[in-house]
Amino acid sequence: MRAAVFYEVGKPLVVEEVELAPPHSGEVLVRIAATGVCHSDLHYIKGDLTMPLPVVLGHEAAGVVEAVGDGVDSVRPGDHVVLLFAPACGHCRYCDSGRPHLCEMRARVRGKMPDGTSRLRLAGRDLHHFTCVSSWAERAVVPASGVLPIGKDVPLAVAAMLGCAVTTGVGAVVNTARVTPGSSVVVFGLGGVGLNVVQGARLAGAVMIIGVDLLDHRLEAARRFGATHTLNAGAGDPVRAILGLTGGGADYAFEVIGRAATVRQAVDSVSRGGVAVAVGLPPAREELVVPGPAFVLNEKTLRACFYGSSRLRDDIPRLLALYRAGRLMLDELVTASFPLDRVNDAVAALDRGDGLRSVLEMPAA
Ligand SMILES: [Zn+2]
Ligand SMILES: [Zn+2]
Repeated sequence: MRAAVFYEVGKPLVVEEVELAPPHSGEVLVRIAATGVCHSDLHYIKGDLTMPLPVVLGHEAAGVVEAVGDGVDSVRPGDHVVLLFAPACGHCRYCDSGRPHLCEMRARVRGKMPDGTSRLRLAGRDLHHFTCVSSWAERAVVPASGVLPIGKDVPLAVAAMLGCAVTTGVGAVVNTARVTPGSSVVVFGLGGVGLNVVQGARLAGAVMIIGVDLLDHRLEAARRFGATHTLNAGAGDPVRAILGLTGGGADYAFEVIGRAATVRQAVDSVSRGGVAVAVGLPPAREELVVPGPAFVLNEKTLRACFYGSSRLRDDIPRLLALYRAGRLMLDELVTASFPLDRVNDAVAALDRGDGLRSVLEMPAA
């Protein structure tokens, strides 16, 4: 099968023929139909975050099950599935306490499958897996706990985004922050995840939703997704504008970029007792700093959000129900589709901030 192989920071990915071993016990072979191009992938390509190389990236995908390994009864060949980048063991302290997105398995699977080996080989050498997904490829072997079957009525390019952007963005609002009806919400960064924070806030009943970005086309998109106000951060201090609009600070602020400076702006934008949520993944060595006395005296909260604090098997079907009911905008998120051969163009488009979400789509087998 063909896959986009990432060999070296700063070099283009190489699309080439890669060997994919059949699924082991407890694993599933999926034909990838569509896979998103997310900032987390870009972080590794640019070297802002590191992982063992060479690797096949891609962590947001949907496809069709082609084969299952021994002992897998949760899916069958032909099932349509969303791939999940946080496979869960089902029996660690985090799984047991209802937080499977924090499963201990995550530390074990860096670059590997859960059993410590790779299914990906090229020229006699193992390639690394990425988050047990590695979907920038025609096929992927993944743990059975890393796939969730969905209805065949959902376009797979749309379903792919449930693997990361939608689940993370809406989950940050409803699970991590638990935004209450009537609240005011600020969202810093209006890319694929940020727009889902905006529509999550709309679904949660926020009455003021302020979107902040540097790109006007994203501010316009945010209004379509539910923002009541938008601010171009290049046109003046957004914190001062937010404090003015909200009469002293928002109830919640979400940072969906992954930079210390905007996390600080999120903290500064919330009212006394307000909650700032760091959703964007910061580069390695970036430290998040809050103002000491103002943080304590104003009893602010800064909390982090990984994967929308989601119980994926419960949350994704609910998100699909909202989509089917016309209340969750997913079709509108996919603004460009590239073939796998043009993965480097898709990555460049993401880096420039073109469109909302790009997907790589593979031809049906
Ligand atoms: Zn992502
Ligand atoms: Zn676990």
